[in-house]
Amino acid sequence: MKQTAQLQRLVIAPSQFQKEAINLTPQQQHYLSHVLRLRSGDHFIAMDGLGHWWMVKLENTEAQILEQISVQNELPISITLIVALPKGNGFDEVVRCCTELGATCIKPVLSDHTIPSPSPQKLGRWQRIAQEAAEQSERQIVPTILAPVPFRNSLADETSHRYLCVARGTYPHFLNHLSATISTTDLNAVTIATGPEGGWTDSEIEDAINTGFQPVSLGRRILRAVTAPIVALSLAMAALECD
Ligand code: SAH
Repeated sequence: MKQTAQLQRLVIAPSQFQKEAINLTPQQQHYLSHVLRLRSGDHFIAMDGLGHWWMVKLENTEAQILEQISVQNELPISITLIVALPKGNGFDEVVRCCTELGATCIKPVLSDHTIPSPSPQKLGRWQRIAQEAAEQSERQIVPTILAPVPFRNSLADETSHRYLCVARGTYPHFLNHLSATISTTDLNAVTIATGPEGGWTDSEIEDAINTGFQPVSLGRRILRAVTAPIVALSLAMAALECD
């Protein structure tokens, strides 16, 4: 059996899985044959985006399933990012980098200082970016990217341990707070919220704190709206994966 590191990865919709084979869509056939230049008989890795991988063999319009591959590349707990939409295409970069870093779910939100109101086609684009980044970074799952909602609506249904990143003030450092929480609590989910270019308003900070968010700092410098979620997730990864 080939080393899995050399093999291409492709996310396959659950409905394409038959008993011993995968029906490939015309787009996937084109991608495998003409972009990746695989031929009949070549192996690649099929991912269902929900945590499972299979070694498969390309056979014309199908891929024959050879065996399931067991992997554990995911962070030990689920991490949801609430990200106030940055200007322009900045959220593309957030989705790409945060998928690489291990996010489970990314919720774009419109906050009081959010400038853009995204076009509805953006969600499909973000989901495609997440899928490509998950294939590239060898994730087991493809993170869920939700449609944008007002920030205050995103506060209500959170059940995990929640952090609000605030650029100014004298709040505890996120890394210290999370590390201490991990060592004293049986955590299985964390939510981290980061604001837009103009920052959170005082009333947003107040509302978040009132619904159970812990305000935290990401350090002494002011990070851009695109950089902040990437830094927050990197710090969470350090707290969760480095002993
Ligand atoms: N214009 C604002 C800063 C906005 S930075 C000001 O001058 O105060 C965009 C977002 O990134 C912030 O809302 C916050 O969520 C996050 N952020 C940036 N730097 C941060 C830091 N040092 N600590 C915590 N959060 C930070």
